[in-house]
Amino acid sequence: MNNLFINGEWLDASDKKTYDLINPATEEIIAPISFATAKDAQAAIDVAHEAFKTWSKTTTYTRAEILKKAASYLRENITEIAKDMVNESGKPFAEAKGEWAVAANLFEWYAEEGKRAYGKTIPANRLDKRSITIWQPMGVIGIITAWNFPAYNPARAWAAALAAGCTIVVKPSENTPLSAFHIVKALQQAGLPNGVVNLLVGDAVAIGDEMLSNPKLKKISFTGSTRVGKILMDGASRTHTKLSLELGGNAPVLIFDDVDVDAIAKATSVARFRNNGQVCIAPQRFYVHKNIYHQFAGLVTKYVSQLKVGAGFEEGVNVGPLITKRQKENVVDLLGKTKSENAEILTGGNTPSHLQKGYFLQPAVVANLKQSSVLAHYEIFGPVLPLFSFDDLDDAIEKANDTEYGLAAYLFTNNLKTSIHASERLEFGMIGINEWAPHGTESPFGGWKQSGQGHESGSEGLYEYMEKKLISIGGL
Ligand code: ADP
Repeated sequence: MNNLFINGEWLDASDKKTYDLINPATEEIIAPISFATAKDAQAAIDVAHEAFKTWSKTTTYTRAEILKKAASYLRENITEIAKDMVNESGKPFAEAKGEWAVAANLFEWYAEEGKRAYGKTIPANRLDKRSITIWQPMGVIGIITAWNFPAYNPARAWAAALAAGCTIVVKPSENTPLSAFHIVKALQQAGLPNGVVNLLVGDAVAIGDEMLSNPKLKKISFTGSTRVGKILMDGASRTHTKLSLELGGNAPVLIFDDVDVDAIAKATSVARFRNNGQVCIAPQRFYVHKNIYHQFAGLVTKYVSQLKVGAGFEEGVNVGPLITKRQKENVVDLLGKTKSENAEILTGGNTPSHLQKGYFLQPAVVANLKQSSVLAHYEIFGPVLPLFSFDDLDDAIEKANDTEYGLAAYLFTNNLKTSIHASERLEFGMIGINEWAPHGTESPFGGWKQSGQGHESGSEGLYEYMEKKLISIGGL
């Protein structure tokens, strides 16, 4: 317990309430965790508001030194902190270590990028006038994050907001708080002044409401479902709290008939099931050219059935458990619905016989699907690979864009013309051409349509936490 971090101190929730954190691979209790209330959220916002007065006046060089020390701490302790991530999230140890390495890079990168928040001088419309713009930190930021990347999601937003000169009140997911505790410890030992970062785990609705209604908090940065994103938009319409939203996705993958089918099928079996498909930019809907559809289906089924499912510390495990019982039930339910659509499950979809404890599901490949299938329109967030076919470029683009989401899209072809035309016609914020990782610390990550508002990472991510100010000087 003592899991809230307010004004530099680890505290219990004000009403002493706790909840049990569950290991999704064993269903055992990892630890009781403090469960914060609206009152705790208010206290944290008050403290962050006070701390902003001094933190916002530090130089970007001072802030950078602290953020870079935090990055070093994460790198030095990567093995230990990755173990906690495996326990709380279920992901394979190698994936957890990789994620911590990226989280450390985010702190280092924003430490330097904070120094480059340049304004500009604008040629004025009168001789006696000068116009300049400057960027200033926004104030207290509320940062609510999801469980699928317990270190990357917080690091991306926290690092940018702190580098910008903001103070933060953070609420990691109640499913994965341990990783967030480690980032707080990294910042604490790096010398971050008290009150600059404050952490709450607890009643999400109450904390979200307090963030929305407290005038001392200027913006909420949210990573999570489109459902909760809409709740925050409703609330923000009353209070005018600013929002950055990283919401759901339903990424199409277009595979044209000029590719090395075996190589793409093999790579697909890895990319689709990274983090068990619980990724907002996960390649989800596979549209394969009709000339290679059957060949691709056979090969991908072979590779997917070879994936090893198991607990994150087991040697050679590719796919861990889903995060919660409910999440597993959602995926099983979606698969059930495809039966009435006459879909064909080519492999997987069942609970592995040797893994009855924990939220495990054998990775599935589903074929014989129409564009009207539930698998084309819901964000699956689980280990299911649906296969569709297309006739030509126009048909592929129409099917790919047939979704309310617009986060990431992928396409595989060796034809330059096809790749340019397809990438320009896809209605998504990030396009991967012949690659599965279109994102990066230095690149803007953001969604079109109902996938979000604003950007994270890259220089765009920094400006999400700064206000632009025009200064106009007359009478010169
Ligand atoms: P998921 O269903 O994938 O967990 P959510 O969007 O429900 O995604 O959760 C993302 C984050 O939003 C979590 O930290 C969760 O606690 C938080 N959350 C859930 N409901 C609300 C709410 N009404 N207001 C604010 N935050 C919320």
